[in-house]
Amino acid sequence: MALVVQKYGGSSVADVEAMRRVAKRVVATREAGNTVVVVVSAMGDTTDDLLDMADALTDDAPAREMDILLSAGERISMALLAMAINELGVPARAYTGAQAGVLTDSKYGRASIVGVLPERVARAIQMGAVAIVAGFQGVNEVEDVTTLGRGGSDTTAVALAAALNADVCEIYTDVDGLFTADPRIVPTARRIESVSSEETLEMAANGAKILHLRAVEYARRFGVPIHVRSSFSDKTGTWIYDGRKEGAFVPPVVAAQLDDVVEADNDQEDEPVSATRPRLDGATGRVVAPAGTPAPDGGSVGRAHDRAISARAEARPHPSAKEDNVEAPVISGIAHDRSQDKITLVGVPDVPGAAARIFAIVAGTDANIDMIVQDVSAEGTGLTNISFTCPDGDSADARAALEAAKGELGYKSIHFNPDIGKLSLVGAGMRSHPGVSAKLFGALSEAGVNIHMISTSEIRISVVVDDAVLDEAVRAVHTAFGLDAQDTEAVVYGGTGR
Ligand code: ASP
Ligand code: MG
Repeated sequence: MALVVQKYGGSSVADVEAMRRVAKRVVATREAGNTVVVVVSAMGDTTDDLLDMADALTDDAPAREMDILLSAGERISMALLAMAINELGVPARAYTGAQAGVLTDSKYGRASIVGVLPERVARAIQMGAVAIVAGFQGVNEVEDVTTLGRGGSDTTAVALAAALNADVCEIYTDVDGLFTADPRIVPTARRIESVSSEETLEMAANGAKILHLRAVEYARRFGVPIHVRSSFSDKTGTWIYDGRKEGAFVPPVVAAQLDDVVEADNDQEDEPVSATRPRLDGATGRVVAPAGTPAPDGGSVGRAHDRAISARAEARPHPSAKEDNVEAPVISGIAHDRSQDKITLVGVPDVPGAAARIFAIVAGTDANIDMIVQDVSAEGTGLTNISFTCPDGDSADARAALEAAKGELGYKSIHFNPDIGKLSLVGAGMRSHPGVSAKLFGALSEAGVNIHMISTSEIRISVVVDDAVLDEAVRAVHTAFGLDAQDTEAVVYGGTGR
């Protein structure tokens, strides 16, 4: 029997009919002998609709109230899905993020999870119910609702899977998994069977929209196997997993205490159990058992956790980890991103400290810088050009701050280009295969695509090109690296993405 955490995105629970379909899948998973915990997103475009209403009322919504508002979307889904599952004769209980023990810091709108204490979820599944948890939300230390940033339900699911030591975290969406490129641009994109978390992180960080970046980081850190798949088909999707990691950080699991909690709790099913509440030790990140809790088998809670984890690890499916797979393709996929702008300072004095001053000013606006390029100074002038890219939401402030500091920085002029796109080629195989960049640049040149900027990591090469030729560039590179499928594999089932 496996413990499966299933996360359903907005398009999978877009309406009542979709809820029924999800309920059936949950029940079928359970009937196959698994224990199921479900994390849901808000229905369809609910989060956007809530944002629009707030925008209509005010330009300056208080962050705390905004989170109360936005967290409502997921609460609607969790309650309706619990009803749909109950209707199929299976007990289901819905929990808000706070009730599920998703503890966060206080950054409203972009809170980070600091720990998960899923006592009530654990209790629900121990009693044979399906637990439904509202994604995207948690509770901070003053017991206010927080949200995790757009797309944050993925992170809720992975964090819960880690805390419960689940065998797999299934992320249900409206496509059949991760593809070698966006199927809307490259119809011959192929489904990726399995991929490492490192590559997934590079793809997500560089514009691939399938998973919340922090969810992948969380999965990597805690060794949670992710299976991204469609809620509209029964096909296998894409496994994101690095194999079993020795010495992986032990997540704040309460599994070892479950038996005690359940016993103490059987007759007062849903009363808060603050007296027996384990607490999170901020220093170690470990759960500390409440005073007087007898540790299972007389051993330490820590050892019991370790035992529970290794038992589960044995039972885990082992999709081929990239490291062991000598046949693994050199390139896993191509990500693209249109959400950045480019700012160029022309005629910057080529003296020590110039870049430091420029980027201190940009940092003061909280802009997130991606690529930076500095030209060699034009002969005899002692002047150089510095370009950088940042998210389009950050560029106006960065630009204004640089314009205001023109006198201090001594540059000649500032240029702004919002019409750029970034193509990123990602593959762990790059480490051991020379010639990847030559092939990439060759393909772009054949397609007549001009490159503005280049940056690389060990497993990624990114180029900035004109927005207008980005799609063509992606297709050309996809073909050059032999990634095209014979037939069209990708089907987009839902409407609006997640
Ligand atoms: N409903 C939230 C959003 O649209 C969270 C999520 O769907 O993951 O961003
Ligand atoms: Mg743009």
